[in-house]
Amino acid sequence: MTRARVAVAALGGTISMAPGRSPDDGVVPRLSAEDLLGGLGADLPMDVTAGTLAGLSSASMSYAKLAQTRQWGIEQIEAGAAGLVVVQGTDTLEETAYFFELTWPFDEPVVVTGAMRNPSLPSPDGPANLLTALTVAADPRSRGRGALVAFDDDVHAARWVRKAHSSHLEAFSSVPAGPLGMVAEGAVHYFHPSAPRPPALPAGEVDGLVPLLESGLADSGELLSLVLAAGARGVVLAGAGVGHVSSGTADVVQAAQVPIVVATRTGAGPTFRGTYGFHGSESSLIRMGATMAGWLCPRKSRVLLQLLLAAGTSRAEIEHQFRLRGDLDR
Ligand code: ASP
Repeated sequence: MTRARVAVAALGGTISMAPGRSPDDGVVPRLSAEDLLGGLGADLPMDVTAGTLAGLSSASMSYAKLAQTRQWGIEQIEAGAAGLVVVQGTDTLEETAYFFELTWPFDEPVVVTGAMRNPSLPSPDGPANLLTALTVAADPRSRGRGALVAFDDDVHAARWVRKAHSSHLEAFSSVPAGPLGMVAEGAVHYFHPSAPRPPALPAGEVDGLVPLLESGLADSGELLSLVLAAGARGVVLAGAGVGHVSSGTADVVQAAQVPIVVATRTGAGPTFRGTYGFHGSESSLIRMGATMAGWLCPRKSRVLLQLLLAAGTSRAEIEHQFRLRGDLDR
């Protein structure tokens, strides 16, 4: 049987960090893709092509770097790779996974991973997570599942996964849907068959201001006014509960000329469409032209909105795309 070949793009993050020049400096990205793979030993059950495309902390990840990584991955798949593994910091890993979920045109999977413990600590989790990601990427059962996150033996769908703990090894969670599967004894086990996915979006050049603002206690709407006056191309509001904002913010939404997407700040569950009626409620915001994010969390809503704006998408199509990707009954 021919061995699968997997392409690994290393972008930085804790998994690749080592102490800086002086002992007080803390760890910084230093290790290459080859260094990371070298830590797995010589007997991998798949062939690997490695590329070190960046050495970033994930808070500094950019769309330009993601576009470059995507292009490198496309070339690898076209040259016969069974899947692409992207290694990066965990802090914005869920956004990277969702970027690939939205823009990846192939059945071959993209599997994103990283580590919570850097290699200088006892029991670093990077090698195990990387091996899990390679296993998932090489397995034909991962085809057609889009972008996945392999972490702590679990396999998550990009659409659901979130970093839900700042320091635990089991940092990623897909509440309330749960993981798609897991890896045990070197094999991936999926709990459900793969489902059809919406067509890939163009990975256009993302630019301009598309802020994510959280609604909270005593929110006057002033911040929303300021970002709109500063030329925001669109705004995601992490609304309270099922997608609510203060009446002051609702006044600003009513006058806004750019797309406003309302998600829930709660961390799980959908936005509503027609239960509450007060000024600032979900039904009032819909009447004002706001788009509800459904089950998409605020961060992923921002990635979707940024890509749609980059593609010059109409307001009606933005609404359609959020329904397609944010609702469960598509
Ligand atoms: N703590 C982060 C990590 O897990 C740092 C980063 O995201 O770059 O890699």
